[in-house]
Amino acid sequence: MYFIKVLVVIICVNSRLTIGSLTMYVTAVDNLKNAVSNILSLLSMAYENCLYMQSIFHLLEIPEEYQDGKREFPSPFERIEFRQVSFRYPGTHHYVLKNINVVLEAEHSYALVGLNGSGKTTFIKLLLNLYKPTEGEIFVDGINISEYNRSSLFQNVSAVFQDFIQYPFDIKTNIGLGYLEELNNLDKIIEAAKNSGADEFIAQLPEKYETRLKKEWSGSVDLSLGQWQKLAITRALMKPSAILILDEPTASLDAISEHEIFMQFQQMKFSRLCIMVTHRFVNTREVNNIIVLQSGEIRELGTHAELIQQKGVYASLYRMQADSYEKEAAEEFHEKVTM
Ligand code: ADP
Repeated sequence: MYFIKVLVVIICVNSRLTIGSLTMYVTAVDNLKNAVSNILSLLSMAYENCLYMQSIFHLLEIPEEYQDGKREFPSPFERIEFRQVSFRYPGTHHYVLKNINVVLEAEHSYALVGLNGSGKTTFIKLLLNLYKPTEGEIFVDGINISEYNRSSLFQNVSAVFQDFIQYPFDIKTNIGLGYLEELNNLDKIIEAAKNSGADEFIAQLPEKYETRLKKEWSGSVDLSLGQWQKLAITRALMKPSAILILDEPTASLDAISEHEIFMQFQQMKFSRLCIMVTHRFVNTREVNNIIVLQSGEIRELGTHAELIQQKGVYASLYRMQADSYEKEAAEEFHEKVTM
């Protein structure tokens, strides 16, 4: 660039051009340089994007292996049975779930507990027929789950995961979206909010169920993470589905709200099959059955009282958490006394 600029100056001096012309030519050289460097960086960006496109085309070329079943999912159903189910992810040799034998009965509640990586999420994915077992079979009322069509299965499922959506709508729409057929049915929305315990904080909002959420709106309010989580649970309760899946639903709730929600679930007498993935053992006392997964295997299965008596993995994990709760409570008490 400097060489070209020096050349321009020499040519201008020799041709006796004006200072204005000289400045114009030097600027033109700069513009040319910028244009060329832009073209080169665009070419490199295009090349980079093409690399990603290759992956997308590769993904689209993978043939669809899944064949949807023809049967409608039974509503109501009686039981879901995992028979000798083992699973490993494609391309891996490691079994994530091994020889799972368990019966999940309608209108009962189950807690799925275990350390990270023990296979809890994979178990839920198999139950939702998102994956096919590598070995063994899953039966719903005696018929293989793959014979049911997925959309009819999904219609019977409500789920709350940790990464739920915070819709920038008003409260009633945020809840109603859980069941589009009843989107504008305020009575149903209020009933669901009472069942989840969300109605308490909603009653304190300026416009109750009409309150707009998220700061995008003028005159709107934003909620705490725990309140958002209660809304997400309420949304799931809107749908009269036979299966309710709660994947760490109370992770952002304080201990009191968490306890309230579990008491509400108790009052609802578990009119659905409720499967709860949780790390907090204090909640598992209320459920009908606790499934303890360890390294992909069911290590223990039973009620809270039975597993505590067995003095196995569950009992020791429960004791560990109970001790830390007691310690926290004692520290809180100590702080209050010394204040
Ligand atoms: P949990 O929910 O108990 O934390 P997961 O079911 O998510 O456990 O995972 C169990 C094991 O499966 C983990 O070791 C994880 O690394 C592995 N895993 C999860 N998803 C995939 C995947 N898509 N491909 C390969 N391995 C996976």
